[in-house]
Amino acid sequence: MFRSFLIKYGEIGVKGKNRYIFEDALMKQIKYALKKVEGNFAVTKDMGGRIFVEAESEDCDMDAATEALRHVFGIIAFCPVEHVEDKSLDNLKEAVVRFVRDTYEDRNFSFKINTRRAHKSYPYTSMQVDAALGEAVLTAFPETHVDVHHPEVDIRVELRSVAHIYSKEIPGAGGMPLGTNGKCMLLLSGGIDSPVAGYMTAKRGVILDAVYFHAPPYTSDRAKQKVIDLARLVSRYTGPIYLHIINFTDIQLAIYEKCPHDELTIIMRRYMMRIAEHIASQNDCLGLITGESIGQVASQTLQSLYVTDSAVSTMPVYRPLIGMDKQEIVDMSEKIGTYETSILPYEDCCTIFVAKHPVTKPKLEIIERSEHNLDSVIDGLLEEAYRTDELVIVGKD
Ligand code: ATP
Ligand code: MG
Repeated sequence: MFRSFLIKYGEIGVKGKNRYIFEDALMKQIKYALKKVEGNFAVTKDMGGRIFVEAESEDCDMDAATEALRHVFGIIAFCPVEHVEDKSLDNLKEAVVRFVRDTYEDRNFSFKINTRRAHKSYPYTSMQVDAALGEAVLTAFPETHVDVHHPEVDIRVELRSVAHIYSKEIPGAGGMPLGTNGKCMLLLSGGIDSPVAGYMTAKRGVILDAVYFHAPPYTSDRAKQKVIDLARLVSRYTGPIYLHIINFTDIQLAIYEKCPHDELTIIMRRYMMRIAEHIASQNDCLGLITGESIGQVASQTLQSLYVTDSAVSTMPVYRPLIGMDKQEIVDMSEKIGTYETSILPYEDCCTIFVAKHPVTKPKLEIIERSEHNLDSVIDGLLEEAYRTDELVIVGKD
């Protein structure tokens, strides 16, 4: 049974000094992902910039480690690898036969040995090693055959300070390691879209903070718990998430009382954006993230997005789902494992106060005029909302 993984990573443009930042961030995230896995693992980088994960204790759960590594952004693929200390040709032959036996139950396949030497001082050429190891495999397993052009199994042998043998590649999450691209504030609701939007942004190396607007008693504790659960699911990819829970009830009630009802949703959304922007700037976030996509609902027409966006003045709003169809978003949420939680039927705060016929083409000047109806109360309400911000940190345990 293999005890190590070779980590394959790489992103065009990651060179020079950036490469070290990338690798260090990647190693940190790998360690974070493995913290929850039984056993001790060493994460190391060799001279050639290759990253290895090695089981250090007997009790290492390699299946759980495989699952954990699938969640690490920056990994393109990873390979279960066998390390062989004694690189003499006889020992390598034994090792490669053992490797094939342990890795494949059904050995009715074509294969190729692909040797690379890091040091030309090794007493045989790569081709000589290929031939010797190929013959050893053929002799041990007569059901196999060699195909150097289109092998079903490509057995890599790398001769470095030790020899590495591997053949299987497990696809990774891709993207860039967390922490290589700053931090953003995700507006996280209990829906399908926003967890996906968070995932997609984090995939590019962005650390996530999150904010949820809660409206008790119109939204229940179960709805709040659902958002915390979603944040925890996303944190499997992103590391700890600082989730701010903002009590939005009084602001919603004030809007309901003082503004035209067909404008409730858009005005409410503008206040969500303003509050998110405020918390974001206090926490060194460089942008907001939402799960909006053009035309999905009345509040996401281009006109609505224009008016919502105008509420934010000091930082960009990223909408990674902007061009995606609902089905594509659903597929993605299933893939990342948030879908089942997202569809739990707890009300979200937007559904309570929605008008029968919300404006679909709001005009900024008109909305701004309506918002002036809140002038006498809004500063106090915002202050109270910030003061009662409940911070829940998920994914730290
Ligand atoms: P989602 O599936 O993410 O809830 P949605 O299709 O329900 O999105 P809206 O309710 O219009 O769409 O919300 C658009 C975006 O606004 C969400 O993707 C999310 O980023 C943000 N948002 C909406 N409601 C809340 C909330 N209660 N707390 C935090 N953010 C919210
Ligand atoms: Mg929603």
